Amino acid sequence: MDAFFLESKDPLFGIIIFFVLIFVITFFSYWLSKYKKREDHKHLDMFLQQFQSLPSQNELKVLIAKGELSEKSWFLLANAYTKSGNYEKSIEIYSELLKVGDKANYRDTMFLLGKTYFKAGFLERAKTVFLEILKANPRTPQALNYLLLVYEQTRDYKAAMEILEPLEELGKDTVVQRAYLEALLVLHYTKLTPQQKAEELLQIYKSSHALTHLVFEYLFRVNPKSAWENFDASKAEELIDVLWSVDKKDLNLEVIMQNSYLRELYSAKGYIKVANRSSVFELDILINLDAKVNATLGFEYICNNCKVVFPFAFHRCSNCHAIDTSRAEITLVKDYHKDFSEENNSFQ
Ligand SMILES: [Zn+2]
Repeated sequence: MDAFFLESKDPLFGIIIFFVLIFVITFFSYWLSKYKKREDHKHLDMFLQQFQSLPSQNELKVLIAKGELSEKSWFLLANAYTKSGNYEKSIEIYSELLKVGDKANYRDTMFLLGKTYFKAGFLERAKTVFLEILKANPRTPQALNYLLLVYEQTRDYKAAMEILEPLEELGKDTVVQRAYLEALLVLHYTKLTPQQKAEELLQIYKSSHALTHLVFEYLFRVNPKSAWENFDASKAEELIDVLWSVDKKDLNLEVIMQNSYLRELYSAKGYIKVANRSSVFELDILINLDAKVNATLGFEYICNNCKVVFPFAFHRCSNCHAIDTSRAEITLVKDYHKDFSEENNSFQ
């Protein structure tokens, strides 16, 4: 039996004990470091979580009422929330500031609250706020402008037009705004036929010298003959996207042949072959490709006022609310329509 056990005096016993001790120490220090790392991560996660979760409405109420932060800091915070799209928190801050904040800033806070309601799409609430501001301070052009936008978005164009009068009294130029609202009124008036609408829009264009894109986009769609008859060649570049999508059967060659830009444009499109080159790079490439490659013009729209780029044409910029500031930027893109029609033809 003793043969299976080592004597404590045996040198092998000492070596085994030595290795067992090394193993125990290594294992213990490894486990300790792993535990410490996990605790560190936990602490860091908890620390970061404080910044990820937003204060609740009640927490905000208490924080604002305490007055530990200046009103300016709250405005900055609310503005940051609005910019990041968190309108709810921004609205909560403005609403609390209205209750406990400095009365000197009351009108400004109301305006910011109304603006945030508008951005968040709460149009009725925005309307109530702007009307409240105007009740106490009728000469507030910013509130009048936003109230006009609210009426415009709720398609109450007549109410929107009534706002133009006080704006004019305040010395604001409202020619383009009036023309735009009249055009919207015509476009949404169900008792008019498309032809009648086209005529009305043309009258608005002629009297205001504005809304070229809006009017001609509609005219080329509904009455191309009238569009060409009233076409001003100096506006050709402004209307490049509209002209590009005009059907071949609707072209007025008499007008086109009189203008070099139009000749180049429709040669690039492949409808006619009268231009060999163009000073516009994209048109020049398309003329020289001569329809051998599936390429066409692509458009994106930049606001001349705020420089924001949109993928679709617009008449009122949704960012800065300016009217008639859209400019089409052209690029060469793959012609998916051509691809699609060729694929469909191949099955026939
Ligand atoms: Zn803009």
